[in-house]
Amino acid sequence: MIQSNRSFFQEYLNELYPDAKCELNYKRDYELLIATVLSAQCTDKQVNKVTAKLFSMYDIFSLKEASQKDIEDIIHPVGTYTKKTKFIIEIANKLVKDHKGRVPNDKEYLKTLPGVGIKTINVVLGNLYNVPGFAVDTHVERVSKRLYIAKTEDNVTIVEQKLMKSFPKDKWVLLHHQFVLFGRYHCKARNPECTNCLMKERCRVGKKKTKSNNNFKRKYTV
Ligand code: SF4
Repeated sequence: MIQSNRSFFQEYLNELYPDAKCELNYKRDYELLIATVLSAQCTDKQVNKVTAKLFSMYDIFSLKEASQKDIEDIIHPVGTYTKKTKFIIEIANKLVKDHKGRVPNDKEYLKTLPGVGIKTINVVLGNLYNVPGFAVDTHVERVSKRLYIAKTEDNVTIVEQKLMKSFPKDKWVLLHHQFVLFGRYHCKARNPECTNCLMKERCRVGKKKTKSNNNFKRKYTV
């Protein structure tokens, strides 16, 4: 993506989502960490339903003592709940033991927690401590590839590196949220809203759609 297109897209995102922020609900630092772990392969909406119940019944201290079965019963709607239950009980154990139940601003420590990958770390540190990072989830990856910021064959690590090179560091956290909202509500995986998208001339998918619409019009317009 050339620089003028990047700036154009950034302005477009600022217009669409000036106050973009995380759509996972949380009141405490550990709630965000656990909600992000639960959000793997699941929608934020579903996670919010589950965490509303979970955190009305447990805090980080009681969660570490909770039974696998009781937590599974609460979180089963988020999918892969056996594994995720193990992760969050173990996370609670470690956070209480090592940091009195708080989530530290420490990337290396967070990497040692089960079920916590680089995407989760970027989301958590960006939201809690405003640490610059460009978390790449499914929406960010799709939008980046459609808009030539990354190649279709790039893996998430390369997509992340290209995003960080493409945009100013002090905007990474905001842009991450803007990309997520753009991908979730506008540039959807199926049926993206290309007709009223300002990026359609600068996008792999938009260009194809415009071309096929033009061919259709040429064939059927007298
Ligand atoms: Fe997404 Fe379509 Fe816009 Fe491209 S033109 S960015 S595919 S909505």
